[in-house]
Amino acid sequence: MAGFDYDLFVIGAGSGGVRAARFAANFGARVAVAEERYLGGTCVNVGCIPKKLLVYASHVAEEIADARAYGWTTEPPRFDWPTLIRNKDKEITRLNGIYEQLLRNAGVEIITERALVTGPQTVSIAGRTLRAERILVATGGWPQVPLIPGREYAITSNEAFHLEQLPPRIVIVGGGYIAVEFAGIFHGLGVETTLVHRGEVFLRGFDQDLRVALAREMTREGVRLQFGVTVTAITRTADGLVLTLSSGETLTADLVMYATGRVPNTTGLGLHEAGVALDAQGAVIVNDHYQTSVPSIYAIGDVTNRVNLTPVALAEAMAFTRQVYGGMDASVDYEAIPTAVFSNPNLGTVGPTEEDARKRYGDIVVFKSNFTPLKHTLTGRGEKTLMKLLVDRASDRVVAAHMLGPDAGEIIQGIAIAIRAGATKAQFDSTIGIHPTAAEEFVTMRTPVEPS
Ligand code: FAD
Ligand code: NDP
Repeated sequence: MAGFDYDLFVIGAGSGGVRAARFAANFGARVAVAEERYLGGTCVNVGCIPKKLLVYASHVAEEIADARAYGWTTEPPRFDWPTLIRNKDKEITRLNGIYEQLLRNAGVEIITERALVTGPQTVSIAGRTLRAERILVATGGWPQVPLIPGREYAITSNEAFHLEQLPPRIVIVGGGYIAVEFAGIFHGLGVETTLVHRGEVFLRGFDQDLRVALAREMTREGVRLQFGVTVTAITRTADGLVLTLSSGETLTADLVMYATGRVPNTTGLGLHEAGVALDAQGAVIVNDHYQTSVPSIYAIGDVTNRVNLTPVALAEAMAFTRQVYGGMDASVDYEAIPTAVFSNPNLGTVGPTEEDARKRYGDIVVFKSNFTPLKHTLTGRGEKTLMKLLVDRASDRVVAAHMLGPDAGEIIQGIAIAIRAGATKAQFDSTIGIHPTAAEEFVTMRTPVEPS
């Protein structure tokens, strides 16, 4: 368009920004993307991907231990953290290159600098002012650490991916996805791990039965869980970092990691000055078309602080580009978004918790199965798998599925399709199981739990 340097200027080359830039360019738009840190954003560099690689590494110790029950003996296993981090970094570098290639192949200009919004259709980057018909803010989020004395001694997940050595003892503060996943990672890699959370049990917002069952499993495996307390101060002593708790107790560790949530990356971005409305947390407020209070400025992904997951940022990017550049009537359905916590064992879920389902549908029939996975009948590990189905009695529709157990993320992904398609319990029941699997339990649960 005449007078503009670009049709679309994207700020942030993370999950949402890269997808939007590529697809807008594929629709014929002239697009530039600014990235101040790393191509691929949080998910690729300090999120989903490196996290899952560390999760795999952390499971190996358990697999080696379990192998004995199956007749295998090995040399005493040894673990080398620098090797894992080196291999992980190599893979991340490969992915950074793929992202660069995808953008270049689509004809997107990549500017590796921090960008600031200076007006409804202008951005400032490396001392230059560029004009774009539309600006898309996809700057993601950043870890937040509460303002307590000694917070400077704490790391966040960003640093956890680049530690030179593993500490002998770690305290993780928080009770969300990141705290729980990293507790499993560090414990699995042999670190004495304590998780401190202010609530009665971690993972607020997930089904209560699964939260309690995961806490039981992690305790059984040897992770120390301290619920109902906060950390009031951290001090450095000769013996390590000492955390003072609200209960008056202290904990000593070699490393403290805070995973107490993330805040939208809007500080100093110029949005407020440009007239873009932000909420109390600094998140960009958007309408159904991802449009902010300034019509030429749009926002997607974690910076809008709604459902902070990579597949959601990708879906929002697709909807935005289809609407604006494809002339299509596209939208994202935020109902029944499946998600998994890559804890040990995994927790996978789709649809409301039992409590929320009762509020929403009234009469809910609950099916529950709690069993020892076949693999552990020989290992004696004592690990249990828990599955739940919630059914709306009036329509017989399955409205939620929850699972705690190996590969819950993989299994729930398939169940999510059935739930979104509106499958009834009768249809689940008429589906033939795959035997012997844990997943078959989802089609063989016949007896509802008695209402309490
Ligand atoms: P981001 O991916 O954060 O990208 C934003 C980009 O903008 C960054 O690269 C940043 O450097 C850049 N930027 C910011 N400001 C500027 C500026 N002014 N100028 C230029 N560039 C700028 N989600 C899942 O679905 N599954 C998981 O297993 C999962 N695991 C996670 C594990 C961890 C430890 C973390 C932290 C997150 C995890 N997430 C996971 C969440 C997922 O990473 C985010 O939801 C996703 O990355 C959001 O994408 P985005 O495009 O909104 O932002
Ligand atoms: P979450 O928002 O999931 O959890 C934050 C936790 O910190 C909560 O337990 C919260 O407690 C606690 N908390 C917040 N403030 C304080 C405070 N001042 N003092 C003590 N505790 C506090 O954030 P995460 O950092 O774990 O993860 C960020 C987001 O990234 C996730 O919400 C998720 O969207 C995404 N993510 C997704 C993953 C996946 O898909 N597997 C993995 C990792 C991250 P309370 O519950 O009491 O508020």
